[in-house]
Amino acid sequence: MIGKSRKPKNIKFHNQRLVLSLMRQNDVISASEIAQRINLSITTVVKILAVLQENGLIKSMGKGSSTDEGGKKPELFAINESYKHVIAIYAGPDFIQAAVTDLNCRLISCRNHPYKAAESLEQSMQDIADCARLVLEENGLQSDDICAIPVSFDGIVDTENGIIYYPIHNSGWGRNIPVQEMLERLIPWNDHITVNNGSRYVSYGLFLAHPEYRDRSVLSIMSAASTGGCLIDHGKLVQGAHGFMGEVGHVIIQPAYRKRRCLCGRYGCFETLVSMEAVREYAEELSGEYGDHPLYRQILEGGAKHRDVFAQADQGDGFARAIVDRLVEAFESLIHNAALLCDPDLVAIGGAFTEGGAYFMEALKARISNQSFFEIGNRLSIVYTPLSANHWIQDINVGAALYAVDEYLRTLEFV
Ligand SMILES: [Zn+2]
Repeated sequence: MIGKSRKPKNIKFHNQRLVLSLMRQNDVISASEIAQRINLSITTVVKILAVLQENGLIKSMGKGSSTDEGGKKPELFAINESYKHVIAIYAGPDFIQAAVTDLNCRLISCRNHPYKAAESLEQSMQDIADCARLVLEENGLQSDDICAIPVSFDGIVDTENGIIYYPIHNSGWGRNIPVQEMLERLIPWNDHITVNNGSRYVSYGLFLAHPEYRDRSVLSIMSAASTGGCLIDHGKLVQGAHGFMGEVGHVIIQPAYRKRRCLCGRYGCFETLVSMEAVREYAEELSGEYGDHPLYRQILEGGAKHRDVFAQADQGDGFARAIVDRLVEAFESLIHNAALLCDPDLVAIGGAFTEGGAYFMEALKARISNQSFFEIGNRLSIVYTPLSANHWIQDINVGAALYAVDEYLRTLEFV
């Protein structure tokens, strides 16, 4: 690396970020503990804390019980969670969900709003803007209280340029829509509006339960009503040149599987191989042997969910295991391809597959370990995430809030 001297201001800014990042990982912390943990002098840390406190971003939490070396009880500090708030909005196919969180991403309010006319792009964007204004007022907040408004959509989103290339469900909106520009015009009272794909935001929210994943290269595979995912490399969302990165649902796994065309227009996409429709198709293929099985009827009548199949597979049921084997096959191919394209060290599985159970996970790990050529299995951890399909939209908004707070605090400069 070429030796480039840093300006003193940048060092101060860097130190402030280190202090803030450590404070966010701890409910309360003292100046001396911060100094020790990030290897700064106590004088520097005390100065930074004073500036942050003066500006209201952190607060004193009184004296701790343990004593420093001099026998004095140390003063403890915490992030002032109500310093700013986030309004996170999910713009779904037929409703909008708006959530308000504090700086710790704790949910303060969350509710659904209908579109006035979901097929009209202009009206839908106006509905999103109205929704943001409404939750601001409902929560007794002022526009200055909001540090960011992240808005998530289904479909292919280029977050760098604020464009939705293809709104997969709201097809009436057209293509190549400059949503960020539109929303900035309609929400002039906030200048930190970002747009992204919901799967990316929900995956980013993993860091709330697992801050240690920030040090890893994480591929998330999130399968709820539709399937998405993303790559988060050492805490950074990797989105690619056009926002396609992480659209794992549309990675083609079995082009010859032509029972159903994917929403994207192709055959054999990962999404079409792991959805409940796929489970029904696999069940039908096995009808000769298992046509009398109670689970077969439940699946055919539309009354079964992924979790019912997983539960019976864990109990050793042959029919359920045969279906799960097909799902495992699709996951194995996806993970194999992903390993060669972006080489993650952790695969985090969420949505309906969080309830995959022991049989699914063991079968998947066994198949991946058997790929001897690249020895991926020995180098890759595969885990279930706490992000189930049950609170999907809410989890998207909480993950979006975390992303927005991270970005906000990264750029906030007091020193
Ligand atoms: Zn597709």
